[in-house]
Order: sequence, then C-alpha cells, then structure tokens
Amino acid sequence: MPEPSASDRRKAAALKDEVASTLLIDCVELGHDVWFKCQYCGMERTWGRREMLGSKLRVRLAWPLDRIQRAVVCPIRGCGGPMPIIRLMQGGYQDGFDRADATRRRAWLIEALLDAGIMPADVGLAWTPAER
Ligand SMILES: [Zn+2]
Repeated sequence: MPEPSASDRRKAAALKDEVASTLLIDCVELGHDVWFKCQYCGMERTWGRREMLGSKLRVRLAWPLDRIQRAVVCPIRGCGGPMPIIRLMQGGYQDGFDRADATRRRAWLIEALLDAGIMPADVGLAWTPAER
C-alpha cells in the first residue's frame, strides 16, 4: 500500500456540509457520538456525551465539527496526526422522550448542561434562569 498523498488525506477527511456545520453541542442534543479515526496511525476514538460535557471539551461545545477537526490531533505519542476522519454515530441514548420533538429536546439539553455545571449561555444557547 503506497502512502496516501496529501490530496487523498484531504479527501478522506472531507466532511459533508451538514456535518461540518454541526456544533458539538448539537451532537449532545441530537444524541450523536463523534467518531474519529487518525489518518496516520489508524487510532480510533469516540467522544460520547460524557466526554463532550466533560471539563476538557466543554469549551469547544459551541464549535462546529470542521473547526473541531482542524483543532484536534491524534493523542498517540509519536503520531500527533492532524485532520482525523470524523463521522457522527447514533449514540443509542435512552433519555425517555421523543428526540424528534425539538422543544422537549432543547429543554432536555438545558437540563443536561445545567446538571453538568455548564451555563447554557456559555455555549451559545439563549437561556435565562427566569425561564426555568
Ligand atoms: Zn495517529
């Protein structure tokens, strides 16, 4: 197998427009996990809801996935490969409501953020405590 060219790697990393513009917080709201594969060493990892709401990623919750993709590098020592391949995966979370209901979904998201100690306004959601 010849080493992929730079253009092969760009092609492999290309995101569909709707994925590129999806915010990390949208992934939490929609119940998606974010799957990464390093183009250099093949390492795979997945960000689930717990990681996305965790202390390391919460500062990136309002970022679109194309910005995330440019910002992350492979965590494997000696690799550090940029521009991983990214896919959205159905997370299979059972949250006890119909995710197609946007109003309930948003209310659930606000609760999930507050439970994690994140102010919704800090991740770009219009919300004031009075609404609660
Ligand atoms: Zn790697």
